[in-house]
Amino acid sequence: MSGTMRAAVWEPGSPLRVESIPIPVPHAGEALVQVSACGVCHTDLHVMKGEVAFPAPAVLGHEISGRVVEIGLGTTPEQVPAGIELGERVVGAFIMPCGTCRRCLAGRDDLCEPFFEQNRRRGVLFDGSSRLARADGSPLAMYSMAGLAEYCVIPLTALAPLPHDLPEFESAVLGCAGLTSFGAVHRAAGVREGDTVAVIGVGGIGLSIVQLARAAGAGMVVAVDLDDSKLQTALDLGATHAVNSLTAGDPVPVVRESSGGGVDVAFEAIGTPTTLQQAVGMLAEGGRAVAVGIAAGDAAASIPITPLVRRAQSIVGSFGARTRSDLPEVVRLAREGSLSVTDTVTRSYDLDHVATAFDDLAARAINGRAIVRMR
Ligand code: NAD
Repeated sequence: MSGTMRAAVWEPGSPLRVESIPIPVPHAGEALVQVSACGVCHTDLHVMKGEVAFPAPAVLGHEISGRVVEIGLGTTPEQVPAGIELGERVVGAFIMPCGTCRRCLAGRDDLCEPFFEQNRRRGVLFDGSSRLARADGSPLAMYSMAGLAEYCVIPLTALAPLPHDLPEFESAVLGCAGLTSFGAVHRAAGVREGDTVAVIGVGGIGLSIVQLARAAGAGMVVAVDLDDSKLQTALDLGATHAVNSLTAGDPVPVVRESSGGGVDVAFEAIGTPTTLQQAVGMLAEGGRAVAVGIAAGDAAASIPITPLVRRAQSIVGSFGARTRSDLPEVVRLAREGSLSVTDTVTRSYDLDHVATAFDDLAARAINGRAIVRMR
């Protein structure tokens, strides 16, 4: 497919600008997806604010739904995941595994070395080049598949079919909010029947964690946030208790008391030293703190050692999940109603208003997740 498309181009110091650029061409092992929607995730905002280093100029956006319109020349049948066909609806995950490095061969897509080296450090795909360029030919970096555009090129390893009983636009959130929450709940924490859980920060990610933790059998789920309307949404979607850190002051004693001495699992879904310390402070004996929020590059938290040791607690980081095995599972959970994409997405913007979407996210004005619709 040739021609031009509209894409949101980010350059440090200026607002996102929608430009007309050439439609990218997929290589072997990649697909061209006509994007339906792309989620508005705080990680893109971290990049825009310079808290996460990334080359510029770039097209950001890393959780998409859409339709496959082309498969790269030279793609072998083995490279095409089951159910991925021309014209089919798909969701795309932000972790795009190469499928061949030692981590991928061990099933750890979340640790794929070429993905981090090429895409996250250099803004390119596995062959070391970007598929995106401006009209004048100058290259544009790609954050994951660069989903804030009408079309994107994505490795086939990062796609899963989107069944027709899930909505075309809101399902975009499965590729990051859904996948990340699955990784946090099932891979990092291993939430078990009857566990008591706290979720600090119930934005797009935290709200999905609340839903999947409940679906995994958590008995008590305490949502912690600064905003009553977000806490109400969390209660509507399965949280059993809510604590407002602004009015409660320190949420740690409140959570410890309401859970009868601490929770089995505390998820931190913001990315600050204070909230990670709070997560550890909320733990019961043997509890697990799961760090999900992404922090500024040099941020460090201070953790009291003695209680950690004596109470056999653990702190574990969690980044996305194992795309090839977990993204289809996330789709399945959405389909069975364990993760409601329509309840998670509360607002949508068109591509012309993409800058407003991120301004609203920065102002903490978005309840749950917003999406940008490409048409
Ligand atoms: P968001 O802006 O939608 O949600 C953040 C929530 O935290 C909001 O509801 C906000 O009101 C609340 N909050 C902010 N400060 C708080 C505080 N001090 N105490 C309590 N609540 C507070 O963001 P998001 O898109 O859900 O992303 C959350 C974090 O997760 C970000 O750091 C993002 O970069 C990160 N993230 C991590 C992964 C991963 O794989 N680990 C994937 C995606 C996003």
